[in-house]
Amino acid sequence: MVFEKAGRPLHLADLPIPKPGTGQVLMHVHACAVCRTDLHVVDGELTQPKLPLVPGHEIVGTIADLGDAVTRFKIGDRVGVPWLGWTCGQCAYCRSGQENLCDQAKFTGYTLDGGYAECTVADQRFCFPISDFYSDTEAAPLLCAGLIGYRSLVKAGNGKRLGIYGFGAAAHIVAQVAKYQQREIYAFTRPADEEAKKFALDLGAVWAGGSNELPPKKLDAAIIFAPAGELVPQALKAVGKGGTVVCGGIHMSDIPSFPYSILWEERSICSVANLTRRDGEEFMALAPKIPVRTELETFPLEEANEALNRLRAGKIHGAAVLVTKSNSA
Ligand SMILES: [Zn+2]
Ligand SMILES: [Zn+2]
Repeated sequence: MVFEKAGRPLHLADLPIPKPGTGQVLMHVHACAVCRTDLHVVDGELTQPKLPLVPGHEIVGTIADLGDAVTRFKIGDRVGVPWLGWTCGQCAYCRSGQENLCDQAKFTGYTLDGGYAECTVADQRFCFPISDFYSDTEAAPLLCAGLIGYRSLVKAGNGKRLGIYGFGAAAHIVAQVAKYQQREIYAFTRPADEEAKKFALDLGAVWAGGSNELPPKKLDAAIIFAPAGELVPQALKAVGKGGTVVCGGIHMSDIPSFPYSILWEERSICSVANLTRRDGEEFMALAPKIPVRTELETFPLEEANEALNRLRAGKIHGAAVLVTKSNSA
């Protein structure tokens, strides 16, 4: 499924099977989850995609061929491919354990072709083995909603009372990790979205309300997954002294101005960018121990536009996953 221009639907195309270069593997894609970032790409809010582009960066598949110098995997291994697809290994960020900020980083399904396809190639350094605990479709959302959600949770610190704004794919995974860590989850959804509130409570949230409401107790931290800048001052009002507000998405509408008093007392705001391989290794090891379960709606690959439209409309329960018929067992 190919993206050519913002605002136009993806189109189904027959592309040549890519050849794995040095250090790359060729994968048969079994499943690829649909991330809000994909929507930001197709809607033109992220303005630097490679064109034409195969989107998708939560890929699960098996290795079908190896390029030169591939040593980590063999043909037939099942792996996952995340958003971070290549780093230089040389810049100051790469050398200081912050490869997520690499000056020359390349991103799967954005500056590299991704997983809305039957086949893709990936750099072996950025492939993660997938636990047998998970099916292909269940594992796919772990690769971004899970990984970036996990990085956001770590950024939020160790406080007990955690607010989550926007209860979609990332939130439903983070909530399970936070509950396992014995935290209290306060879920904030679109004000009239009773179904999302129920979903959050079913996943163990102690409270669920509209994003325009304040929680019954001051929070230690809040993570904002919804791409709505007006939630930043709202979340600042919900956290107590010293509290942190983490913006977990790659794009957000403008943040309205707000009085300094809601930031005062050492509250802070930060963003989360991308992921490191270390985040991936930690989270992929932790997920089956908890165990994190993912709720899914699956779509055949060729219905990618329908999946994106439903995500844009807030109609996806958990995560949307595209399934490639020809490859799935
Ligand atoms: Zn670098
Ligand atoms: Zn993503």
